[in-house]
Amino acid sequence: MGKQEDFVLRVLEERDVRFVRLWFTDVLGFLKSVAIAPAELDSAFDEGIGFDGSAIEGFARVQESDMLAVPDPSTFQILPWRGDSPSTARMFCDIKMPDGSPSLADPRHVLKRQLAKAAEKGYAFYTHPEIEFYLFKDSPEAGTMPVPVDRSGYFDHTPQNTGTDFRRQTITMLESMGISVEFSHHEAGPGQQEIDLRYADALTTADNIMTFRTVVREVALGQGMWASFMPKPFTDQPGSGMHTHLSLFDGDRNAFYEEGAEHQLSETGRRFIAGLMHHAAEISAVTNQWVNSYKRLIGGGEAPQYVSWGHNNRSAMIRVPMYKPGKDQSARIEIRTIDPSCNPYLAYAVILAAGMKGVEEGYELPAESETDLARLSDKERRALGIKALPRNLFEAIQVAESSELVAETLGEHTFDFFLRNKRAEWDEYRTQVSAFERDRMLPVI
Ligand code: GLN
Ligand code: MG
Ligand code: MG
Ligand code: MG
Repeated sequence: MGKQEDFVLRVLEERDVRFVRLWFTDVLGFLKSVAIAPAELDSAFDEGIGFDGSAIEGFARVQESDMLAVPDPSTFQILPWRGDSPSTARMFCDIKMPDGSPSLADPRHVLKRQLAKAAEKGYAFYTHPEIEFYLFKDSPEAGTMPVPVDRSGYFDHTPQNTGTDFRRQTITMLESMGISVEFSHHEAGPGQQEIDLRYADALTTADNIMTFRTVVREVALGQGMWASFMPKPFTDQPGSGMHTHLSLFDGDRNAFYEEGAEHQLSETGRRFIAGLMHHAAEISAVTNQWVNSYKRLIGGGEAPQYVSWGHNNRSAMIRVPMYKPGKDQSARIEIRTIDPSCNPYLAYAVILAAGMKGVEEGYELPAESETDLARLSDKERRALGIKALPRNLFEAIQVAESSELVAETLGEHTFDFFLRNKRAEWDEYRTQVSAFERDRMLPVI
């Protein structure tokens, strides 16, 4: 047993932990949890805890369903909303097959594999997500409109703003679990919030996002509200994105920084952006995985609609934030397509793969877009060589299906399951007759 395992066993005693929750994520990005008694932990570290993989979305077929969850001791934390003495803790798990090999359906493994590939080229991948979400008054009931908890807007600070208390409690809990928060504020929509996590390596960030979504929903429930990471809950209000700031480090050196270069952006940084742009449509089904995701990427609300980059243009898909003198370490790029209902492990895996492809193949960065792209005509955009992102999940699936990059990154098993699931989601959606159609047609025809 290693040092970290010993540490966990010691804390279990000191903090009177009665339940240890083992967490992992299914292919669609939903959190799974099994609670074990502390006495079982020894064997969980050694052999893992067995479960039925065929009951988890995307994991296994019934005839090969035995799987093991092996806790990662470096992720051990006490859950602050479960109280002290006795307390409850959690660890993220790696999913293994009965022979001890990693499960190809484990999203954490998919990301680890991609990080290892980048490490072979000498790079560590860091991410800093800005997570947006809405707070509603009650839990959603089918067929009713959700009611936002306030009518405030961007950066508003009003005395009755329930969001302020909510953010304070959420951040306190996150910090107690070792997740640092950099900024938080009211976002543009009524009841819409944003909380930005401090940068960390992409695996830690993905774990943190899973924890974040849980903490936010727990705190909201505790305060009599409902939190949702749905990308676009209202037709007429901005959607919720999960802009993520990205950087590659080569040892201590920020590989995106180059003194004197345009925007202080290195060749590696330029190529990484070129990779993201070249493969943007292909990876879209992963970074924006639901029918509803595409209602956000429709232009307006500062969500991107076209494959483009810019340094001070919030309609662009990739933004290069202004460089602050002396801050070489924080030179970075921001990807603005990704939304908070994605599977963060898979999304960061395809983002890294696309960017690294650009670096390895030496892709040329297209010209920067300085205008609001939505204001140009189709013809003007065509003349500039600007392509649109997929307009709906169907278009996204079509490009993803023939993408070597996505197939290779997800691995055959996850790629097949994912696309099958998304096709089924689209088919179910397209058979629905909606209120929009009835309201338009019944009165006139
Ligand atoms: N809510 C916007 C989006 O969906 C982002 C707004 C902002 O942070 N500038 O991407
Ligand atoms: Mg922000
Ligand atoms: Mg924002
Ligand atoms: Mg942003």
